[in-house]
Amino acid sequence: MKDLAAELARRKAADLYRRCRVAQDPQGPERVVDGEPCLTFCSNDYLGLAGHPRVVRALQAGAERWGVGSGAAHLVSGHTAAHQALEEALAEFLGRPRALLFSTGYMANLGVIGALAGRGETLFQDRLDHASLLDGARLSGARLVRYRHRDLDDLARRWAAARRPALVATDAVFSMDGDLAPLPDLAALAGARAVPLMVDDAHGLGVLGRGGRGTLDHFGLGPDQVPILMGTLGKAFGVFGAFVAGSEPLIETLVQQARSYVYTTALPPALAVAIQASLELVRSEDWRRERLQALVARFRRGAADLGIALGDSPTPIQPLLLGSARRALAVSEALRRQGIWVPAIRPPTVPEGTARLRITFSAAHGEDQVDRLLEALAVALREAGTS
Ligand SMILES: *Cc1c(COP(=O)(O)O)cnc(C)c1O
Repeated sequence: MKDLAAELARRKAADLYRRCRVAQDPQGPERVVDGEPCLTFCSNDYLGLAGHPRVVRALQAGAERWGVGSGAAHLVSGHTAAHQALEEALAEFLGRPRALLFSTGYMANLGVIGALAGRGETLFQDRLDHASLLDGARLSGARLVRYRHRDLDDLARRWAAARRPALVATDAVFSMDGDLAPLPDLAALAGARAVPLMVDDAHGLGVLGRGGRGTLDHFGLGPDQVPILMGTLGKAFGVFGAFVAGSEPLIETLVQQARSYVYTTALPPALAVAIQASLELVRSEDWRRERLQALVARFRRGAADLGIALGDSPTPIQPLLLGSARRALAVSEALRRQGIWVPAIRPPTVPEGTARLRITFSAAHGEDQVDRLLEALAVALREAGTS
């Protein structure tokens, strides 16, 4: 066996070692973490639904009705009326003929790409796409061409040299940068070449668009422009799981061929019941999105006043680029000393030299908490000698 301890020590020395902090409270702005109370800006529970009483009660009721485990894969005997009803509700919500549940977004991406692209074909991805899209590409055996972030000229150039293009896949909202993919232009480019575009809307669903319908709705794009939509249910929806929405033939192809759908246990049905409750809140409570937007605007104004340069993001993901992993860790640590939790995001999650704080907001935050973060950031950047 390789010398694992030496490998771990190398990681530590390079400031790339990671560890879990232990929270003593449910998801939310104020938590006790590793025994210390802190104010947190690091979850994807953008709408504050992860602990919503109605969602909690739905999960309880779901467990009473359906028990806990689904007991088998969907195609074997694990698919219940609760899963079926949720798939129909998601399809209706997004204006698509069908939706198919997956256990996680990671698995949905592996499944879709593996079913739609293979050896001898080429698939195109933004260089900053989520790891699960990249891993899906690797597993599929197709040739992966990664174009420069949001750069469609680069994509068009690479396209000219590609063999048998099969798929273009992109994050809608980039998970570590918070910026949006140029979806209308991307859809036009892929459409003109008759190659399907797959959009991963893990961070747009629930947050953007009318009634939280996501980034495609934000841009006014429909199934004709973007035939393959992946969404996750563990972020703004506050629960767990994921789905792919699209045409009848697309979904049937996934049922037959997506290995991460076929060869895994179905989600617990009670989760499907909880997700239905969450969907009702997502689509009806616009105030959560409005509040989130207001908090983000307040933060960006405050940061500008303090001379803190943020990435160009209109979403609740607000990156503060710091360069080296060491610098990002130092600022994160200086925040922690002030009772604020924002983890340092380091390579390989982000490219070398772009380590950052990934600050995220939730509708559950208050304006005073945003102000506290700004004050603490000013101190932390001074202490770490980066401002
Ligand atoms: C979180 C995330 C996923 C994975 O979703 P899970 O349900 O957490 O597995 C996929 N894509 C993007 C862009 C993500 O941010």
